[in-house]
Amino acid sequence: MEGQASLDVQKIREDFPIFSRAPRGKPLVYLDSAATSQKPRQVIEAVKRFYEEYNSNVHRGIYSISIEATEAYEEARRRIARFINARSHREIVFVRGTTEALNLVAYAWALRKLKKDDKILLTEMEHHSNIVPWQLIAREKGLKLEYIPIRGDGTLDTSGLDSYHDFRIFSFVYSSNVLGTINDVKQLVRFAHSRGALAVIDAAQAVPHMKIDVQELDCDFLAFSGHKMLGPTGIGVLYAKRELLEEMEPFMGGGEMIREVHLHESRWNDVPWKFEAGTPNIAGAIGLKAAVDYLEGIGMDNVRMHEISLTRYATELLMEIPGMRIYGPLNPEKRSGLLAFTLGDIHAHDLATFLDEEGICVRAGHHCAMPIHTRLGVPATTRASFYVYNTHEDIERLAEALKKAAQVFKIV
Ligand code: PMP
Repeated sequence: MEGQASLDVQKIREDFPIFSRAPRGKPLVYLDSAATSQKPRQVIEAVKRFYEEYNSNVHRGIYSISIEATEAYEEARRRIARFINARSHREIVFVRGTTEALNLVAYAWALRKLKKDDKILLTEMEHHSNIVPWQLIAREKGLKLEYIPIRGDGTLDTSGLDSYHDFRIFSFVYSSNVLGTINDVKQLVRFAHSRGALAVIDAAQAVPHMKIDVQELDCDFLAFSGHKMLGPTGIGVLYAKRELLEEMEPFMGGGEMIREVHLHESRWNDVPWKFEAGTPNIAGAIGLKAAVDYLEGIGMDNVRMHEISLTRYATELLMEIPGMRIYGPLNPEKRSGLLAFTLGDIHAHDLATFLDEEGICVRAGHHCAMPIHTRLGVPATTRASFYVYNTHEDIERLAEALKKAAQVFKIV
């Protein structure tokens, strides 16, 4: 894909109120969208309109504003289903985010379906939210975890795939939040299915940045978070094939997820509602719909091309800085719009603090992916991540500030 974007970034920036701020007396350079994205006015307005005009609980009321709220909440579900090309809105479960979605699969599917010594396959490039839930249930049930290793260049080492057998579920990241690596997820899904296992995709860093088609991928589950794709915090999605949702027992019990409750037994609501116990994040879902509308207004191919262009430019400029080491594949077409790096022996936190003084927001640490850092042999990295509102000038500001840091910290 050529990195030439047809996207009017200046116009996009006008939609984001936060860019009128200058917390360090300098225009804000926000390079931490992989942690959470900024929100356009359209999303903020949709949430505000809900609270100001039709705030009420969903699925329960028989009065007009509750019907309006229910329709908006369910319209959000249909909109998101279309966005990822699910067969139906019945395959979309609203959750808090990727973490909850993956826990739902671990507890509601794996914990109940797997037997002692059954294997779960993961990769070494997972975020903690795609490791720890599996460890929790593995400990409880006596399951075994296996990991596909990563190569030195930050790509997944699929050369030994043939040696993995007898696993029941394979859960893997679409695009790494540290290495940027975009995995060949279609191949990984096919591999899982060829072994009779289910394929789970952590798409937290993919759905916000590229066109995703769950039918084409043929994955069984796919998880993502609204707050990384211009939407509010506290709302996310678990996509699941409907037959799996039908055969699964609920994750949480409570109101809304039931059809009938008796003192000693209950019957569940239809899917996906049987997985949405209690009052959901109504405003969040409505805000997420507005975010999806916004992203589709730009066009997901344009989003991706813009990020390729920014990543290419950032790689070029950063590589000129003495002591710079970027992790993951260097080809911007093979990675998502983020760069994790070290600069000489400057600690990632010191570097991020230095950049903050220049008005530049980046993330420092292990980015909830300690095993990747162990594999890379570094305790922490600094990460700059890009989105639709970032400009080539933002990248120049980053590169200038890093050059200055290299001088101040005397990196040769
Ligand atoms: N997986 C990946 C690859 C991520 O980058 C993140 C967020 N950093 C998560 C999972 C967890 O997402 P959330 O915190 O929104 O649940």
